[in-house]
Amino acid sequence: METATVLAALQGSYAFIKEVGGFAINERDRLKLASIQIDLTDKIMQAQAELLKVHDAVTNKSILLRAAQERISEMEGKLHERGRYELAKLGTVGDFFAYKLRAPSELTERTNEPEHYLCQPCFDADKKSVLHVGKFSCVCHLCKGTANIAALPVRNNRIASFTGREW
Ligand SMILES: [Zn+2]
Repeated sequence: METATVLAALQGSYAFIKEVGGFAINERDRLKLASIQIDLTDKIMQAQAELLKVHDAVTNKSILLRAAQERISEMEGKLHERGRYELAKLGTVGDFFAYKLRAPSELTERTNEPEHYLCQPCFDADKKSVLHVGKFSCVCHLCKGTANIAALPVRNNRIASFTGREW
């Protein structure tokens, strides 16, 4: 074989080997890149899952905070309303107490409300019930509690009974 032919064959083989080697390197790099992309995708998905957990925790805390703020506001309203009244003895018989609306000079709002009494057990249970005060007794239409608040008139040596008008 001539030297030129041998050189040409060697050059061809070298080009082939170089091409195969380049292909192998490219394939190795492609596999390595694919592996890196998979790892990166896993890390991004883990980060998104953690972010969702944090978001859920923040959302739950926000809901709890809003509920607590509403509860505080409700309790402040009740406390403010309770401050408009004072416990007072009602009537001249026995020890019957009810919550009496404070004097207009002591109120900061709704100063033109007429004088009235609230049922003590109902108001202590956060229910506002204005007592229906009669001449001799009073009644709570919510709990149906009644109390004598004045001595009944004595007629013919007998204690008068209540009538529909003078209860
Ligand atoms: Zn009551």
